[in-house]
Amino acid sequence: MAHKIEPAPTGRASCRGCKQTIAKIAKGELRFGEEFQNAYSEDGGMSFRYWHLACAATKLANELRATLTSYEGEVADRAALEALVESHVRPEFPYAERAPNGRAKCRVCDQTLKKGDLRLAFERVFESPMGPTKGAAYTHPRCLTSYLERERERGGKSMQRGDVVRAVLGNSKLAAGDAETVAREAAVAAT
Ligand SMILES: [Zn+2]
Ligand SMILES: [Zn+2]
Repeated sequence: MAHKIEPAPTGRASCRGCKQTIAKIAKGELRFGEEFQNAYSEDGGMSFRYWHLACAATKLANELRATLTSYEGEVADRAALEALVESHVRPEFPYAERAPNGRAKCRVCDQTLKKGDLRLAFERVFESPMGPTKGAAYTHPRCLTSYLERERERGGKSMQRGDVVRAVLGNSKLAAGDAETVAREAAVAAT
C-alpha cells in the first residue's frame, strides 16, 4: 500500500479517527493518507482515507511508522509523534500476547478470551460500512490447529503449524515463560 503524508490541500476532508475536519492552516496541516481498496468504486480501485497524524499514530501506528520514516518534509513535533507511534506499534502478524482486555472471542471455540489470557492474533480483513478494514482475529494457542484447518477449508492461506508458531514467537514480545506456554499449547492437535 502506498500510504502518504501530505499537506491538506483543502479543509474538507475529515479524519477517520476522530471525525473532525482536517484543517488547512496557513501552509496546510499535514495529514496521513491511508491507501485502501475501495470496494464501492466502479473499478474497485484504490482510494485514500485521511487521518490527522496524531490520530493515525494511535490507530494506524504500523502504517504511519513506515510512511513517516521515509517522509523527508518538516513535521511539527516529529520526535513526539514518533514516540506516540512507537508506543502504539503492534508486532507483525501473527503474534501472541496477553489480552489487554476481555472483549475478543476465540474464532475457533467462541469462548471469551479473558483479560490476561495468552492469545494468538492473525491479520484479518473485515467488511465494514467504510470498506474493507484490517483488524485482528484472535484464538487460544490451543485452538491453533483447528484455526488453521478452518482457514484451509475457507480457501484462505494454507499455513503449516510449525511455521506459524515460529513466526508467532519471532514477532511477539512475550515474557520468558509465556513463549514456552504458547509453543506447548499451540502444538495441541485438533480434537
Ligand atoms: Zn483526527
Ligand atoms: Zn479457543
